[in-house]
Amino acid sequence: MNTLQAVRGMHDILPADIAGWQWLEARLADRLNAYGYTEIRIPLVEKTELFTRAIGQGTDVVEKEMYAFDDRNGESLCLRPEGTAGVVRAALQHGLLNPPGLKVWYTGPMFRHERPQKGRQRQFHQTGVEVFGVATPEVDAELIAMATRLWTDLGVDDQLTLEINSLGDRDDRQRYRNALVDFLRPLADRLDPDSQRRLESNPLRILDSKNPDTQALLADAPRLHDHLGDEAAAHFEAVTGMLGALGIAWTHNPGLVRGLDYYGRTVFEWTTDALGAQGTVCAGGRYDDLIEIQGGRPTPGIGFALGMERLLALVEASGRRFGRAPHAYLVSSEAAEHRLGLAESLRDAWPDIRLLTDLQGGSFKAQFKRADRSGAAVALVLGEGELAAGEVTVKDLRGDAPQQSVPRDRLAAALRERFEAA
Ligand code: ATP
Ligand code: MG
Repeated sequence: MNTLQAVRGMHDILPADIAGWQWLEARLADRLNAYGYTEIRIPLVEKTELFTRAIGQGTDVVEKEMYAFDDRNGESLCLRPEGTAGVVRAALQHGLLNPPGLKVWYTGPMFRHERPQKGRQRQFHQTGVEVFGVATPEVDAELIAMATRLWTDLGVDDQLTLEINSLGDRDDRQRYRNALVDFLRPLADRLDPDSQRRLESNPLRILDSKNPDTQALLADAPRLHDHLGDEAAAHFEAVTGMLGALGIAWTHNPGLVRGLDYYGRTVFEWTTDALGAQGTVCAGGRYDDLIEIQGGRPTPGIGFALGMERLLALVEASGRRFGRAPHAYLVSSEAAEHRLGLAESLRDAWPDIRLLTDLQGGSFKAQFKRADRSGAAVALVLGEGELAAGEVTVKDLRGDAPQQSVPRDRLAAALRERFEAA
């Protein structure tokens, strides 16, 4: 029988690749916790209605990308395509929005039925943050400053550019929508089919079209930025002013609208040239209407989500290598209880030691081969002579330092000295 393969666009993360993931996850968790965000873990599956309501009809995600299915009770469920809707659902369900100021982060897999290609998968991973209940521009600025500091933590700050725009308030978008439709209607037959449809259902989405001909037509379209009301304009000035004061570089991209429907006012993205076509690494913005759309009291919100695969690719492109080789690999001709006994006593004396014991036995030659393959810096040899003398031979596997006989009661201290000095 043939062996089965993983679903197209859904990838295993193999042992050889896990060190980078764990490194990245730990750096992100440390930094987000330090800014006062707390992790939240929500289900991978939600009611489909949550996403159709929150993300909006006429978006790519809802129209084409959702993994929705009927469960055995006939209820329509959906593998989560993004995190914000579920976090808002949880916050409402558990009454977390009072008092205002909740800050949470999440990390995990998301599912979108897209065409798989480099930088685009059907199961991919996001880490995201959300702040609820605070409308001040200071929140936007702190969030952007935090992300900027993340890029520095990870050594990719010089690879990423920040673009910002304002989508205005609801009334501003309504006025702009009319202006955009007036502009596009005479050109309708030159738009791509999706955009033609959206001209009636959700014209702002047309700005996000990936079709080059549509984008060319949009070059002369009216600008959302010219339709901002006074309050939204002042908010944008305040946010970008604070970024300037913090020394954070940004550019204004008046065409930036984001792929989801719930955004208003500040939206932003970090992009890179280093990854080819799929260059957006992190994106987010304000969603002051979303909580009301989901049935809560009007509550401002803001957040971002970053693509873990793309961010990790960027970190790897910067030349960073992960994974820590074992300190030592124990080879021995003696009985299992001697080998295990020595290993456990070393772990008692130096709990952080990265130690592998040869569990397969056989000749010294075979054991040394495995020791070498493990990447360990030294081999610890426990043979008949060593056992009798109460010693262990320490053999350098990577350099040509002379081998040493070390009394067992000095071994942990000697190893620790050698590696902690290095
Ligand atoms: P794109 O324009 O690339 O489709 P998007 O606007 O759909 O992105 P968001 O919903 O804002 O993306 O998701 C935030 C981030 O998650 C993206 O910037 C990207 O890094 C990552 N991401 C989104 N979709 C995928 C995917 N299919 N595969 C890998 N990463 C993804
Ligand atoms: Mg997309």
